[in-house]
Amino acid sequence: MIDADIVIIGAGPAGSIAAKHATLRGAKVILIDKKSEIGTPKRCAEGVYDPGLRLLGIEPNPRWIAQTIYGGVLHSPDGNSIQFDEELLPVCGYVLERKVFDKYMAMDAARAGAEIMIKTFVNDLKREDNGFILHCDSFGEKFQIKAKIVIGADGPESTIGIKAGLNKHNSNKYMLSCAQYEMCNVELPRDD
Ligand SMILES: Cc1cc2nc3c(=O)[nH]c(=O)nc-3n(C[C@H](O)[C@H](O)[C@H](O)COP(=O)(O)OP(=O)(O)OC[C@H]3O[C@@H](n4cnc5c(N)ncnc54)[C@H](O)[C@@H]3O)c2cc1C
Repeated sequence: MIDADIVIIGAGPAGSIAAKHATLRGAKVILIDKKSEIGTPKRCAEGVYDPGLRLLGIEPNPRWIAQTIYGGVLHSPDGNSIQFDEELLPVCGYVLERKVFDKYMAMDAARAGAEIMIKTFVNDLKREDNGFILHCDSFGEKFQIKAKIVIGADGPESTIGIKAGLNKHNSNKYMLSCAQYEMCNVELPRDD
């Protein structure tokens, strides 16, 4: 049985930043993700706001910024649109490269001292004494981790909250479906 102070399930931005800060405060942290490669496939349009990143102590970095955005246009279904330019929206945003950004965030957690387990699925968790036992599956091997604290950073389809006995709903009626396209050679009035 592996022991940890805190196990964080999900190495998306939420899990990685939690892992980094918990480790920096002295906890023994394990960050787990079922994916074999952190950050991919992504389900995100990758738009973020500069002050939002800075609020979290994340310095914008050209390694994971695909494009700086200085404005945008909102189109309503009735055909009206509103344009946000530098005057209306003086602070910029970015289009991230999430597959790089998520890895960068996880590496930041690892550099702080967190242990990272990829391709590891948390099947179940049970409360025990003053903590939890997590049932994991990695590369076909089943094992358990004992943790004092579990952070469910497992995204919008979270099952960890339900398994922990929290009253969390994730049924389909709370989800909206959509399709997202990545396009190239699109002509726009401005490229930023
Ligand atoms: C179509 C679309 C467009 C979006 N566009 C934007 C945008 O432009 N800007 C923006 O800010 N946000 C956008 N979002 C939202 C953004 O993607 C999410 O808010 C963000 O990814 C949430 O981060 P997270 O760390 O909470 O979870 P996630 O990034 O979802 O990470 C959760 C991780 O948990 C892992 N996991 C889940 N269950 C288990 C388990 N049992 N065991 C092990 N690992 C597990 C998953 O593999 C995953 O890596 C968009 C979302 C969608 C769907």
